[in-house]
Parts: sequence; C-alpha cells; structure tokens
Amino acid sequence: MHKLCNALLEYQLDDFANDIAGLSEEEVVDVYSMGLYSINKIKKFVEKHGNYCNFATRPTLLYSTKKDKNIIKEYEFRKKHNFKCELITENNSLPFPVDTGIYCEDGGCEFDPYLFTKQMIDASSNQQNTYENTCVVDLTRINDKWVCTTSYGQTITCKYVIISTGFQWDWLGEDLCERFLTYTIVTNPQPKITWKDNALVQDSSEPYHYMRKLPDDRIIFGGDDESWNINKDNKNCDKKYNKLLDELKEMFVDFKDEIKVDYSFCGAFASTNNNLGVVGKTEKENLLYFFSCGANGIINAMYAVEIIDDIIQGKENKLAHLFSPLRKDL
Ligand SMILES: Cc1cc2nc3c(=O)[nH]c(=O)nc-3n(C[C@H](O)[C@H](O)[C@H](O)COP(=O)(O)OP(=O)(O)OC[C@H]3O[C@@H](n4cnc5c(N)ncnc54)[C@H](O)[C@@H]3O)c2cc1C
Repeated sequence: MHKLCNALLEYQLDDFANDIAGLSEEEVVDVYSMGLYSINKIKKFVEKHGNYCNFATRPTLLYSTKKDKNIIKEYEFRKKHNFKCELITENNSLPFPVDTGIYCEDGGCEFDPYLFTKQMIDASSNQQNTYENTCVVDLTRINDKWVCTTSYGQTITCKYVIISTGFQWDWLGEDLCERFLTYTIVTNPQPKITWKDNALVQDSSEPYHYMRKLPDDRIIFGGDDESWNINKDNKNCDKKYNKLLDELKEMFVDFKDEIKVDYSFCGAFASTNNNLGVVGKTEKENLLYFFSCGANGIINAMYAVEIIDDIIQGKENKLAHLFSPLRKDL
C-alpha cells in the first residue's frame, strides 16, 4: 500500500550562486530560471490533469542562525537578477532561531513524487508501453540498433537508448560522480509547531539540513549527508537519526519533550560539481544518459527531459552543455 511520500522542490541549488563550479553569472541565472520553469511545468500539469499528487506551492526559506555573509551575497545576487525574495534579519517572527535568511514567496512546491509519476504514466499516450518490474541487464549494439536484454531474457530492439537508472550506474562500469548518503527523520504529529505558510526550510550549515511540515502535522527533518563510502551499518544510521532529533529539539526547545521520531530512513543521492544532472549524448552512438543528480534532482529532471527531446529532434538546447555527460569535472 502506498504511504505518504513527499518531495520538496526548490529552484535554488545545493551551493550558493557564487560557488557553483564552472558556471558564469548568466548561466546561474538561466539555471535558477530553469528551476522556476520546472515548478511551473508541474503546476500546469496538475491544473490540466487534476491534483492527485498532493501538489502545493510553497515559499522557501534559506537561513543561518548566525550573521551569514554568504546568504546576504546570495540575496543580493537574486535581487540583482529580479528573483522575488526578501532578506530576513534577526528581527523576525520565526519560531526557531534565525539570524540571516532569504525568504522566497514563490520559490518552491511540494508533492508526492510517486503519485505524480503514476499520474504522468496515466496521462501519457504511450502508457501501454510502460513496463514495471522489468530490469535491463545488458545492452548490445547490433547492426546500428541497440538491443536491451531484460532479466527474463526478452529483448527490446531500438534506435536510441536512454539510460535513466537513477543512482545505480555501477553496471555501466563507470563512476559518474560523487554519491552521498542522506538521513531523514519524520516526527510524531506536532500541530503546535507552525511557521509562516509551511515554507520549505533549509539551513546553510555544512552539511545542510532541510525541514518541512507534512499534511498530517508531522515534521520531516533531514540532511547531515555524508560520503557514500562510509560503513553503512544500522548503528551508524541510528547515530545519525539521534543527532537529527537532537538538532530538531534544539530548534524547538519548548517542545523538546514532545518531539518523537515515528519514521526514519536514509537514501543515496548523487551530486555533480555544478549541481546539475548527467544528461545527454555519450561517446556511443544513440546512447544517451539521463541521471538526474543534485538535491533538486526532480526539478532538474523536469527540464532535462527537454534536453533529451531536443537531442533526438536535432534541435539546439541552451542548457544542454551544463548537463552534458561529456563535460569536464563531473
Ligand atoms: C532520500 C531521498 C530524498 C530525496 N528528496 C528529494 C526531494 O525532496 N526533492 C528532489 O528534487 N529530489 C530529491 N531526491 C533526489 C531525487 O529523488 C532524484 O534526483 C531523482 O529521483 C533522480 O531521477 P532519475 O530519473 O535520474 O532516477 P530515479 O528516480 O531513481 O529513477 C530510476 C529508475 O530506474 C529503475 N532502474 C534501475 N536500474 C534499472 C535497470 N537495470 N533496468 C530497468 N530499470 C532500472 C529504478 O528502479 C528507478 O525506478 C531525493 C533522493 C533521496 C535518495
């Protein structure tokens, strides 16, 4: 049975605008605009096909408990380029300690990515050709075509192959980019803890934390990412979940005895130097990659499908070079 599933979508990236490796000021503006465009694309889909995926637009808050020059610089960058936002100073009404922050009224949204995916498949004209539980185990080039073999031995022969297997790329024999583990706790319902418009909250610490309120008043709090290569045993996870709980209690000291963890989980995600995905042409003919990396992987994916579409149709795409698997320093 499908339980509540929730993803946050924001146009800002994992790094501050001034720190995004290899991107010019103009490119950062294009990437931020791409994020807003992707949010709007989901919104339009929901308006057309109905909201069956708990979609809601949300403001975003990026903050620090201290005076943070990087946040101020980020605010100035966004203001200069006409992204709507407001600077939060120490005089604010937030229910947790914030000294410096950027609040963006139309900066994000949340939805259930599982239900959204189902809804996209239902809306697709190609739904009869969508197969679940069908694992591709081999790809071979035969007579200018790609032949994909599934774990049951059936084959699919096609002109183009787009590999979009998430963060499981080991079977390609390539190490594409860095992978991390991220940890999350979900509290018991906390109706008394509220903040303005259920903004999607992220701090600027290293590693950062993110927080949001679920429709049943639980708080979902996560982050504290670490290298994929650490010893992945349960004891390490428990340590991380306890640390997150302590950090959350510190934010809401008045409720520290009431906040309990009802669910916890960790997952892998991947990140590239410029925070974008690995999407586009590879060195092999008609073999394309679609690995949507970064903390905003879903946002990037919503745009990156257009890069794939443009490549297949032989059209230029303004952002293709930023996502290219052939770019240096992934
Ligand atoms: C815990 C966690 C929380 C996250 N939260 C957010 C969030 O709030 N907002 C956000 O924007 N992003 C979030 N992300 C990142 C986001 O989920 C990813 O960036 C995004 O899902 C990647 O999209 P994708 O299409 O590249 O891969 P995926 O969504 O991972 O899809 C890959 C699919 O390929 C299938 N597959 C794998 N191997 C094979 C094979 N050999 N044959 C056939 N099929 C195969 C998999 O089963 C899977 O269905 C989160 C990630 C994690 C781990």
